[in-house]
Amino acid sequence: MAVATSETLVEELNEMTPEALFTWALENHGDRAGIITSFQDTGCVMIDIMSRVAPGIRVITVDTLRLHEETYRLMEQVEQRYGITIERFTPDPARLRKMIAQHGEYLFFDSKAKQEYCCNLRKVEPNQRALETLDVWFTGLRRDHSAFRVDTPKAQIVDRKGRKLLKIAPLVDWDDDRINAYIREHDVPKSELYDKGYTSIGCKICTTPTLPGEDKRAGRWRWFNALNADDSKECGIHSGGSGI
Ligand code: SF4
Repeated sequence: MAVATSETLVEELNEMTPEALFTWALENHGDRAGIITSFQDTGCVMIDIMSRVAPGIRVITVDTLRLHEETYRLMEQVEQRYGITIERFTPDPARLRKMIAQHGEYLFFDSKAKQEYCCNLRKVEPNQRALETLDVWFTGLRRDHSAFRVDTPKAQIVDRKGRKLLKIAPLVDWDDDRINAYIREHDVPKSELYDKGYTSIGCKICTTPTLPGEDKRAGRWRWFNALNADDSKECGIHSGGSGI
């Protein structure tokens, strides 16, 4: 994609508002622009902003088949509220059967390597398939999510399996106060899980609520907290996992 290789363009995109970014993407990339979201607060706010200024940008999710019931309910609510159909990318059934036959349903408790294997199969590979349909990838990454994400740019060129695309995090510099104010003002659908103590939402078994003062992603794979690696709370989607 010629446009995504321009550093000047990336600099310009880094200065744009979320509204301007969605408008630019729809005008320049049409159905090759999409929001990939797991329906956390930032993703829902992105969908609301997009629906006001650039309806038509695709909304995509990776359904690992292990999500909370609350997340599936929220997806239905979002579809009804905005009159959209969410595109669901799911794990490859044959690979899933093979993994479970070899390692069991709960392999992620055994080791970091097996957790990464499961995340690659259930998340990274379906996400990679979704990315192959996009030139512009909108994501809900925020700098205050974790130490690993503090330097995340608003717009950047990323390479996925030898193909370059624009990765844009329109709300990268927003904090909880700003997100929550927007949700209240625009009556944005919100996951019930936040009221149950969750500050980051992923697969049901692998995500737990957090305590005050903990990193927002501390509840992910909590049994690995002693590892203390900056990227130990990443599933591979944003850290460039192999996608098998
Ligand atoms: Fe598997 Fe857990 Fe990763 Fe979900 S979060 S893909 S269940 S290891």
